[in-house]
Amino acid sequence: MQNEISTLLADIKEQVLYFQELGAENFSVDLPEVQSSKFKVQQEKLERFAPPDFNLPTIESAKPKISIVENSSTRQSLLESTKLSRLPTLPKRNSYPTNPIKEPARELEMPKIITEEMPTLFGEITQTLPESTETIEEIRLDIGDCIRCPLHQGRTKIVHSTGNLKADLMFVGEAPGANEDAEGVPFVGRAGQLLNKIIESIGLKREDVLVGNVNRCRPPNNRTPTQAEANVCKQFLLREIAVVRPKVIVVLGNTATQNLLETKVGITKLRGEFQDYFGVKVMPTFHPAYLLRDPSKKRETWEDMKKVRDFINAI
Ligand code: SF4
Repeated sequence: MQNEISTLLADIKEQVLYFQELGAENFSVDLPEVQSSKFKVQQEKLERFAPPDFNLPTIESAKPKISIVENSSTRQSLLESTKLSRLPTLPKRNSYPTNPIKEPARELEMPKIITEEMPTLFGEITQTLPESTETIEEIRLDIGDCIRCPLHQGRTKIVHSTGNLKADLMFVGEAPGANEDAEGVPFVGRAGQLLNKIIESIGLKREDVLVGNVNRCRPPNNRTPTQAEANVCKQFLLREIAVVRPKVIVVLGNTATQNLLETKVGITKLRGEFQDYFGVKVMPTFHPAYLLRDPSKKRETWEDMKKVRDFINAI
């Protein structure tokens, strides 16, 4: 019992630190309601671990505040829209009737995917990235004032990918934080400054690379986007990748890695080895926000980045 409580408290403390690194100023944690008395933790015990400026919610009052609006057709659409070969299957904008827009989402005709037999880490057959018939501007137009998932409700600005649209190297994170939401630019807070140093460590500048996120709107309290929210928004990212055609994509942290590679395997197992995304090399490594929390992991990130540097230099 004591061990379970200790583990729970340690998890909460870690989450608090993580959110703060991501720039969260005010907390209203969306904890699921805890039913079992086995895991009930007294408020005063939680408060011992919370930082002084952290408004800890009571467990009794904390309920999930965001839920994705789904009906049977949108659910099916979300389930089916997780592969590049099915990119056009974005949910219609009017799937969310709370704020309907006049123009439905434009559906694109994707070119036929050319398959090429390439053994991967997992011994599967992979496909090459299809040629895109659209431009970045057209993708941005299609995104518009997007309301395709509930994250639009709390955003200030949509945070599009920025940087070199002809880059060989792309970085993909999870979702914008407070600074990014305010400025409309990805990775501009403390984690962004560290990302700039990581980029410079391999002899490049921020403007040489393209930087984006799986989700373009800031989740409330910097929580991790739900799988449904990620599935909707990452279609834009995948379309951008098909246009820009980077040689290497560095995925930062668990969420970006698992969403791009469509895997449940964690970052600690995948990092440091090139993976494959439709023939594009993918290097999973730690998120800069995590490195701010645990600087000892910078060494492993440096090892990962050296592999990226060597691959790009050999092109
Ligand atoms: S996170 Fe993406 S899908 Fe959701 S509202 Fe923002 S732009 Fe649209």
